Amino acid sequence: MNDYLVTPIEFLKGVGPKRGELLRKEINVFSFEDLLNYLPFRYVDKSNYVKINELKSESTYVLIQGKILSKEVVGAKFKSRLVVRFADETGEIDLVWFKGVKWINENLKIGEDYVIFGKPTLFNKSYNFTHPEIDLASEAKLQKESLFPMYNTTETMKNKGLTSKAVSKLMQTLLEGMYSPVPEILPESVLQKYQLISRDSALRLIHYPKNQDELVRAQNRIKFEELFLLQMRVLKQKTQHKLEKSYVFSKVGENFNHFYKENLPFTLTDAQKRVVKEIRKDLGSGFQMNRLLQGDVGSGKTLVALMTMLIAADNGFQSCLMAPTEILAQQHFKSIQKFLTGLDIGIGLLTGSTKTKERRELHESLQNGTIKILIGTHALIEDTVQFQKLGLCVIDEQHRFGVAQRSKLWAKSQFPPHILVMTATPIPRTLAMTLYGDLDTSVIDELPPNRRPVQTLHRYDNSRLKLYEFIKQELRKGRQVYVVYPLIKESEKLDLKDLEEGYFTMCAEFPRPEFQVSILHGKMPQTEKDLGMKLFVENKTQIMVSTTVIEVGVDVPNATVMVIENAERFGLSQLHQLRGRVGRGAEQSYCILMSSHKLSSDARQRIDTMVKTNDGFKIAEVDLQLRGPGDIQGTQQSGTLNFKLADLTKDERIIRAARVAAGLVLDEDPNLSQPRHQKLNHTLRKMFGETVWSKIS
Ligand code: ADP
Ligand code: MG
Repeated sequence: MNDYLVTPIEFLKGVGPKRGELLRKEINVFSFEDLLNYLPFRYVDKSNYVKINELKSESTYVLIQGKILSKEVVGAKFKSRLVVRFADETGEIDLVWFKGVKWINENLKIGEDYVIFGKPTLFNKSYNFTHPEIDLASEAKLQKESLFPMYNTTETMKNKGLTSKAVSKLMQTLLEGMYSPVPEILPESVLQKYQLISRDSALRLIHYPKNQDELVRAQNRIKFEELFLLQMRVLKQKTQHKLEKSYVFSKVGENFNHFYKENLPFTLTDAQKRVVKEIRKDLGSGFQMNRLLQGDVGSGKTLVALMTMLIAADNGFQSCLMAPTEILAQQHFKSIQKFLTGLDIGIGLLTGSTKTKERRELHESLQNGTIKILIGTHALIEDTVQFQKLGLCVIDEQHRFGVAQRSKLWAKSQFPPHILVMTATPIPRTLAMTLYGDLDTSVIDELPPNRRPVQTLHRYDNSRLKLYEFIKQELRKGRQVYVVYPLIKESEKLDLKDLEEGYFTMCAEFPRPEFQVSILHGKMPQTEKDLGMKLFVENKTQIMVSTTVIEVGVDVPNATVMVIENAERFGLSQLHQLRGRVGRGAEQSYCILMSSHKLSSDARQRIDTMVKTNDGFKIAEVDLQLRGPGDIQGTQQSGTLNFKLADLTKDERIIRAARVAAGLVLDEDPNLSQPRHQKLNHTLRKMFGETVWSKIS
């Protein structure tokens, strides 16, 4: 059996060296097993014929039975196309081929009964089919009554005749020659408990399901397997972290207490207190902390991080706080500096723009231990940055950091330092369970008291004058206003123009000396950016016109209005982040989403969601539904989400079941050393590598 599946693909009947090369190059199919695992992306119910007069513009793939009325090759030699007039008793359509014109033309017979299969497009008020599949009706009948698999193929494959249909033929050959069953990898107990069909059945049925019911059972089995294997890894990593020895922070001392009693200008929320307790427990355990701190924007995560760093200092250790952008690092630095007034604790700031001389001094103070807290960007993971005694790393908005970058931090310390990861963008539960399943989670689910929820409004461009009136009122109450423009790489120049025009309009509408307007965007020199920000923070300018560079972190409690221009061009999590910049003080704040009347349905849903709720977790759920996990920031590079079938937005139930199942297996047999787990063990090693999987076994 194994021999059969590992056979190189060119030895499959119908493949040969040329197609073999194509399959390897185009879709990574090297062996019989690879082909078996190349799953259909959809199924077409080939018993479902339609009539020509039933075609709709939103029809996907359809089957039509009819006759060829006429055919004609039009256009010059290299641009020629074959146009076939095709009719059933209800109407006529055109079938068009641009490729293989000669061959197809010779083989199609006028007057014969054919079945075509394809996707209609509307052209000049009538439908046509480009490159449909076409079979004699007598042959097509044979395939009736089954769900027909559709396989993704590349343009190159299609040009060489390796269409979806050809792949499905190869699959048939493969399955016909597969006499012994595909080996099972899931433990028997799991199969029984979750009533899953065998691996063998699933892989056979997924290619040729007889009906919907069979298809669903095959899909469920395969999804479960994917999610189960991932959860096995994630849980294994989690136990591994827990066995990783690290420094013990046994006491809470002078720094923490001084800060708590003298400097903290407010009382902690209950949620903050709970999280600090959870963290303290980790730090005292002797094992490495790996904790994810989730909390909505403004919930006070940074403060929790600061207190954690003070505990590190109390125990003689250094900490670092890594932020995703320069502006945010600076902001952290300044606010932490302010919070620590009167405490004898060295803090440093290291970013890409730190001057060489300063940098040298910083390096020295880090090595001799005068700096206790280092705040910075990516710059602080460079090899040249060495600590005397690094005990804790806080990573803000970690989803922008790659896993590899994170692990570089570990090398800076004798033991792996404690890790606290903060995410400002709430992550839906299912995604968190998969992406950060190896981390313990703390949630700050409460905002500081006296915060009024931000009111969010959607306004169209034609009510701009009213908007300016409203802004004027707020400004005259002494408040400040952000106006944010999108900046997207592809249209950077146009966007900058929009931004600048917006700036000039605001300057004209809000003239000096009564009002001052600042402009801020990523392309400005650092010194100008700093100045612009500083003026706004100090309330020397009242209106800040900017791109999303202010997205993260900036904290100006006096700002009460966030106007987002072209709101339809922003993603949900970005809109939520931006809204989080206001509502930081005690006054009522507003977020105004400006758009034109032309909105796609997704854009409308994003805007409606923002208007309806302030709850970051709800927003994250909608975001996941709209975009799919592949597009959620940072998940692309994680590589853990390349599922064949599983869908994090839809398979929550299976994810949970797989998590529980994986936990049970590991409880019973942590190293998977029992014979009944041999196959599973082998599979995991192959998938995730010996080092990850077998470190403790
Ligand atoms: P996050 O990092 O979660 O977005 P921050 O830590 O930046 O939130 O806190 C947002 C604002 O709320 C800051 O100005 C901070 O000083 C303030 N803050 C934090 N915790 C509290 C609290 N318990 N009570 C009142 N204000 C708080
Ligand atoms: Mg923050």
